[in-house]
Amino acid sequence: MEFNSKILETKKCEDEKNCFRIVKFEKPKAFDFKSGQFIMIASEDFKLRDAPEKLKWSSFSIASSPFQKELELCIKIYETKGLTEHLKSKKQGDEIIIKGPFGNFTLNKDFKEVSFVALGTGIAPMISMIRTLLHENDLRPINLFYGFRNRCCFLYHEELIEMQKKFKNFKLNFIPSDPEQDWSVPKGYVQELIEKAVFSVPKKEIDFYLCGPPKALESIKEFLIKKEFNKDKIFYEKWG
Ligand SMILES: Cc1cc2nc3c(=O)[nH]c(=O)nc-3n(C[C@H](O)[C@H](O)[C@H](O)COP(=O)(O)OP(=O)(O)OC[C@H]3O[C@@H](n4cnc5c(N)ncnc54)[C@H](O)[C@@H]3O)c2cc1C
Repeated sequence: MEFNSKILETKKCEDEKNCFRIVKFEKPKAFDFKSGQFIMIASEDFKLRDAPEKLKWSSFSIASSPFQKELELCIKIYETKGLTEHLKSKKQGDEIIIKGPFGNFTLNKDFKEVSFVALGTGIAPMISMIRTLLHENDLRPINLFYGFRNRCCFLYHEELIEMQKKFKNFKLNFIPSDPEQDWSVPKGYVQELIEKAVFSVPKKEIDFYLCGPPKALESIKEFLIKKEFNKDKIFYEKWG
């Protein structure tokens, strides 16, 4: 399905680089997707450099859950004259073009315990899946291991902390790799969080969903296999 969609809201992160946007768009009634899938977006005023009659399309995972009225994306802005830098100036009421949904990185509902491992904007498909499970009052254990650079990059922190308070089966584990000086939290990588975690079911029975940059995902996957988690229960979406 391809359609034009108006921006309903755009939120930027608060650091001086303004490196993230959480953007909400209108969702047509007929648009149907599963948590974990992605869309492709383009802007009428941003064409391919070598073929100016063609739109430049980029992929973004849907952060909202199918039960929500709008579509939501979280976008890392790269200052590389690509589509994300172009999107930086878009505001409420502006239109973009969307096509999709695409992808089969979706939740296998037949799990005993599920662990999501998100790196940076890799939180997007994960928060969609978590929102869906909690909305459905799923009572099985759900863990999020979330690695990001600093406080500014801790996307959805208020919502995630609220979720943990409200749903006893949801456990938020987060770790910044390079926290601001005034934020006194342990720093490191998600592997350290997984190492320390207490799970409810035997290791081999836990489903893992990983999303983030390809190199980091490979090393997390290797780590999980080395730690004797089940390699057949590791699913991932690479953004490279
Ligand atoms: C399945 C999937 C899901 C993803 N989900 C997310 C997500 O939720 N959030 C997120 O932040 N990222 C996501 N990404 C990454 C995202 O698609 C882009 O790769 C990333 O945003 C790069 O930003 P950019 O501004 O350089 O984009 P792009 O504009 O796509 O630029 C990428 C490269 O294309 C070239 N390019 C740029 N402009 C032009 C032009 N006008 N003509 C020709 N070539 C050009 C440049 O060489 C540039 O390095 C996802 C990727 C995939 C594959």
